[in-house]
Amino acid sequence: MRTVGYLWDSLYGWVDTGSGGFSPADPLAGLQPIAHHVAHPDTKRRFHEAVQVSALKEHLTFMQATAASDEDLLRVHTAEYVQRIKDQSTLAKGGDAGDGATPLGKNGFHIAALAAGGAMRATKAVVEGEVDCAYALINPPGHHAEAGQGMGFCLFNNVSVAIAYAREKLGIQRVAVVDWDVHHGNGTEAIWWDEPEVLTISLHQHLCYPPESGYRTTHPGALNIPLPPGSGNKVYELAMDTVVVPALRRFKPELIMVASGFDAAAMDPLARQMLTQRGFNALTESLMAVADEVCGGKVVFCQEGGYCPHYVPICGLGVLEVLTGHSSGFGDPFAEMLDPQGVDDLYEHQRVEVERAAELLAPKEY
Ligand SMILES: [Zn+2]
Repeated sequence: MRTVGYLWDSLYGWVDTGSGGFSPADPLAGLQPIAHHVAHPDTKRRFHEAVQVSALKEHLTFMQATAASDEDLLRVHTAEYVQRIKDQSTLAKGGDAGDGATPLGKNGFHIAALAAGGAMRATKAVVEGEVDCAYALINPPGHHAEAGQGMGFCLFNNVSVAIAYAREKLGIQRVAVVDWDVHHGNGTEAIWWDEPEVLTISLHQHLCYPPESGYRTTHPGALNIPLPPGSGNKVYELAMDTVVVPALRRFKPELIMVASGFDAAAMDPLARQMLTQRGFNALTESLMAVADEVCGGKVVFCQEGGYCPHYVPICGLGVLEVLTGHSSGFGDPFAEMLDPQGVDDLYEHQRVEVERAAELLAPKEY
């Protein structure tokens, strides 16, 4: 049985995304103010609260985050960018990380540094054997953030800050990132583009976000698997088994980081994929099986996106069920509604896209 670390901090639920629905409210653009921004932290807080009342609680090792230091952030981000976030953070009503759609509230820098620090804490625990694997339920997310710019609700690239820390301080060199957030992990890819000992793998809906990003690539340190809209459990499982798992076997990482978004789920408002809890469970099972094979099961899950307050907690519980080997006691209360909607379909055009991604593996050394 695995020991599973778990990390949340109440301040992750205090991320202030403002009163806009997606971009800031603007009467001249027809964008009305609303209490719940699409990236409102309640979605992730509800995941944490579901954990608290589930039978999983007694099977998790609770850990506490401390904020990443400037030194930690600067391993990945430019000094200008870290200062920019600090400056925006001092404004009376907060500011934005760079693209006009990545809000942070007053003193939001502190929560962003705490999210990066949470990823570091979970990584340290796994690398040093305090736990076998870990789930860091951190917020704000990180995978779109580049060295010198935040975007897509992401301030600091939490996964990358943790990888850089592990490589400098924990004696780890080869790290693979498996990013199953529905959007392309562009920031993580860009940060490690020139580092052949860090492989970034991204499964995402083709051209969902960012624009013109995440095409299939033959770059040695990056493997992109763009999937057509409407891809459900069987499509993602095929991609995991025929592309991601062989790539990990070939790359032989010492540690796997999962950029764990739940926005590829069938109820998410920001994408058009069809995963259900069952699909996330299957992805987790495949991933942990190959992790046991190549890196002693050392896997750190870091929360990324996921915008359906109803379904994110259910998908998250599913992942934790697989990691702990115990039932949450809840199952998937949405399965009865979602299962008849084609969530397990695998169409030819979807199979072809997965096969094309698999072809990239053939002659390359990862
Ligand atoms: Zn996302």
